[in-house]
Amino acid sequence: MRIRSVEPFILHAPLNTDSISDSTHTITHWGVVGARIVTEDGLEGFGFTGTHAHLPSDRLVTSCIADCYAPLLVGEDAHDGDRLWLKLARNPALQWVGRAGITQIALAAIDIALWDLRAKKAGLPLWKLLGGATKERLEAYNTDIGWLSIPRDRLVEGSLRAIEQDGFRRLKLKVGHEDPTADIGRIEAVRRAVGPSVTIAIDANGKWDLPTCQRFCARAEALDVFWFEEPMWYDDVASHAALARSTSIPVALGEQLYTAEAFDAFIQAGAVHYVQPDVTRLGGITEYIQVAHTAHSHRLPVVPHVGEMGQIHVHLAYWHPASPMLEYIPWIKDCFAEPIRIEAGHYARPQMPGAGTTLTKAAIEAHSKPC
Ligand SMILES: [Mg+2]
Repeated sequence: MRIRSVEPFILHAPLNTDSISDSTHTITHWGVVGARIVTEDGLEGFGFTGTHAHLPSDRLVTSCIADCYAPLLVGEDAHDGDRLWLKLARNPALQWVGRAGITQIALAAIDIALWDLRAKKAGLPLWKLLGGATKERLEAYNTDIGWLSIPRDRLVEGSLRAIEQDGFRRLKLKVGHEDPTADIGRIEAVRRAVGPSVTIAIDANGKWDLPTCQRFCARAEALDVFWFEEPMWYDDVASHAALARSTSIPVALGEQLYTAEAFDAFIQAGAVHYVQPDVTRLGGITEYIQVAHTAHSHRLPVVPHVGEMGQIHVHLAYWHPASPMLEYIPWIKDCFAEPIRIEAGHYARPQMPGAGTTLTKAAIEAHSKPC
């Protein structure tokens, strides 16, 4: 498995609707930005990170892949997981300018492509290579019904449709209006419509400050909120710990954290209950495994954020014993050789060898942008 070449790519794939917004972001396309690694024996591995399809910043990622990481990889043995991860992540010049942001999500793409190669070489889907599935079925929760840009009547309609047509029993609603009373009204409307047995999580995408969150939670506690995700600024450990102490609603976070050490800080402070690592923002699958095991040793569930729309995390969540469920957002799946699939509110278990990242030729032709 000597590495022959490392080639970057950028795809901008349209969403399943014109645009969506949460409290912080508005997007029309999802960026699939990463690397195709080819070995001397002709295997090809795909790895990528997820972006807002903003070409200038996507090119910073592909430049890091092509100019910084590729020369460190060509000629290496793709089997060497931890050694190669350390060679890239601890390269003195790169860690000087990186350890988070561009260099880290570029590392994620590389590390994922290397795991894809190893699983393909073994002839196994990634979950099997990692140690096998720890659950018969993996429940999905639906985020796509709950964007902040969806008006209240359509929010209720979409929630009911997801339950009745697709079998979902778990929903997530975006919150984060300037006036949180609007958010309370939206949660109340959905709760009234779906009844008490459907779980409703909420997600503020880092929007509010501590007193706003505390006032909001005092009212939201009566609505049986399953978790409150990213209530405040992503890196603020102390404020999340204070909120966790002051409300009965569990705190969820992690999608914006770049390193295992960042997760350790939140876990040690008692600032997180549902741990939400994202393999496309951490330094890939190698670092994700470390975070998942740490959370598990603290009896905390691991419910990944799907920056890759579930293609890789479906493998990781079927495998890891701390993962009871996985987020579902139905974008970009048509780009892949084995797209994620939902059956009666549960993820189908992938069967093809690899990490679920192999792009189709049609997707590459339709959505590629120049690196
Ligand atoms: Mg979120």
